[in-house]
Amino acid sequence: MSDIIPKPNSEQFFGEDIYFDGGVGISACAEAESAAAKLKALLRRVCPSVIFSDNGNVSIKLEKDALLPREGYVVDARASDIVLTASGSEGWTYALVTLERLLKTEGGDKALSLSCPGCHIEDEPRFAYRALMLDEARNFFGETEVKRLLDLMCLYKLNVLHWHLADDQGYRVESDVYPLLTTISSHRNDTQVGGIRSDKFRGLASSGYYTKNQIRNIVEYAKERNIVVVPELEMPSHCSAILAAYPHLSCTGEKTEVPTTFGTLHRSFCPGKQTTYDFLDKLLDEWCELFPSSLFHIGGDETAGSLWKQCPDCRKTIADNGLGGEHELLPLFVNRIAEMLAAKGKLPVIWADRLPRGVRKFVTYTAWLPLDRKAVAAEISSGRLFIVAPYDRYYAGQPYCMIPLKKTYDFEPTSIANGSTDAGFFGVEMPMWTEWVYDRVKLDFNLFPRLCAFAETAWTNAQHKSWHDFKKRWQAQKPTLDSLGVGYAKDKLTDPGAFARNKGAYIWKNIDQYDEVRKNDK
Ligand SMILES: [Zn+2]
Repeated sequence: MSDIIPKPNSEQFFGEDIYFDGGVGISACAEAESAAAKLKALLRRVCPSVIFSDNGNVSIKLEKDALLPREGYVVDARASDIVLTASGSEGWTYALVTLERLLKTEGGDKALSLSCPGCHIEDEPRFAYRALMLDEARNFFGETEVKRLLDLMCLYKLNVLHWHLADDQGYRVESDVYPLLTTISSHRNDTQVGGIRSDKFRGLASSGYYTKNQIRNIVEYAKERNIVVVPELEMPSHCSAILAAYPHLSCTGEKTEVPTTFGTLHRSFCPGKQTTYDFLDKLLDEWCELFPSSLFHIGGDETAGSLWKQCPDCRKTIADNGLGGEHELLPLFVNRIAEMLAAKGKLPVIWADRLPRGVRKFVTYTAWLPLDRKAVAAEISSGRLFIVAPYDRYYAGQPYCMIPLKKTYDFEPTSIANGSTDAGFFGVEMPMWTEWVYDRVKLDFNLFPRLCAFAETAWTNAQHKSWHDFKKRWQAQKPTLDSLGVGYAKDKLTDPGAFARNKGAYIWKNIDQYDEVRKNDK
C-alpha cells in the first residue's frame, strides 16, 4: 500500500521498483502538453540529477481517456513504462500529485537516484466540492500566504478555496465603485484577544486588502492547481465593516467604526430598503468581474431579526409582501440577492444555521450547525444541494481539545440527513475562522494534520477509510511537510485525553487557544 493522503480508491502494488538510472523519456498527447511540462519540473524538483532522454530506460506517457471522470486518473507503472491517464487537465493534475508521492529518491540531499514502485492506481474523488475556507476578514494574511495554502491544498487534492473576504471586522477587496470600502472598511483600530468575553486587546491596528491585480493572480494560481476560488461577501449581517463606510445601508443609519471585538454583533443591512439592493447589485458586479467561479457565497446566517422588528422600512416590507414577521425577511432578502446573482450567471451559497422556509432551490446550503435530519432529507429530495461543514468536527480554528483529530476523521458527512446517500451532497468544507489565528504558526498548527484528515473524507470513499491506517500514513507525510516548512501539531496534542477535552468546554468561550501552540514547541 502507498502512504498517500487522501487514500486512493483503488491501488495495487506489484512488489517491483522501476529505477530511472538510464534517463527518462516523456511523451504526451496534445491536450496534456502543459501537464508534461509540469511533470518535467516535478522530476527535476524531486531528483535534480535526473536525465531526460527519448532513449532513456524509463518512459512516462500522458494519455487521454475521455471516459474517465473529470477529476479521475489512472497511474499504471510496470516494467519500464509509467502511463498517466485522465480525461483532462484536472485528472492529470492529480495523477502528478500521486506520482510525486510514489517516487522514491536515494542519495540523501543530492537525490542521486529515483525510482517508482510498480503499481496500478485507479482513483476519483467521492465529492465534487472539497473546500478549505479561509477567513481573511478577521485576519489578513496576504498573497504569499494564500498561495502557500493553495499549494498545500493541491497536495491533498482539495479543489475549492472558499475565500471569506468581508465580515464585521474587515473588508478585503479593492473597490473602484465604492472607494470608502478600501480606505475605511479594510482598517480597524485594534483586535480583541483572549476570547469573546475578554476585555483585552492586542494594541495594534490591523489593515489590509487585496488589489484587483492580486486577486486575479491568486485566482489564476489556484486554477493552475485545479482549485476554484469561491468568494464570500457576507450579507445581510456580518457586514459591520461595510456599514462603517456606508452607514445609510443599515436600518438605523447609525455611524459606527469597524469593530475590534468578535462574536455575533447584530448589525445588518436593512432588507427593507431599495438602497441596499441597489448598492449590493453594483458591488456584486465588481466581485463577479474578479471571480470567474460559478459559485458565490453570500453568508446569510446569524441575522439581526430584532433590529428589523423596530425598523419602519422593514415593517413596511413585511406588510407589503404579506410576510408572517421579521423572520421571513431573510428568505426574501436571500431570494432577491440570489436572483440578482443568477442574472449574473452565478449560483449562490449561504451558511445554513437553520432551514428557512421559501428560499429558492438553486441556493446551496452550507450546513454548519446541527439541523433537523428529517428536514435536511426533505430539502435534498426537493433538489437542494448541501455542503457539509459542521462546527464541532471541521472548524479548524478550534483547539484540538475541543475537536480532536479522530473526531474530524471519523465524521460521515451524509449523517446530517436521515437515510441519505451521497446524492444531494455537493461536498464538504473545512472552515478556518481566524478571530484567534493571527499568524502562520497558529494557522499551520490548527490546519495540520486536520486538513489531511478532512481531505481523506472529501476524496476517499467511506469504505476505504481507516483511522488506524490514516495515522500511519500521516507519519509518512511529515518529511514532506517539514521540507515545506509547515508547522503541524505534534501527535501528543492532536488527540488529547478526557481531562484536556473537558477543559475544552471552558476554552471555547474564554481563551484564544494559543496555549496549545506553545505546548507544540516543547
Ligand atoms: Zn430595516
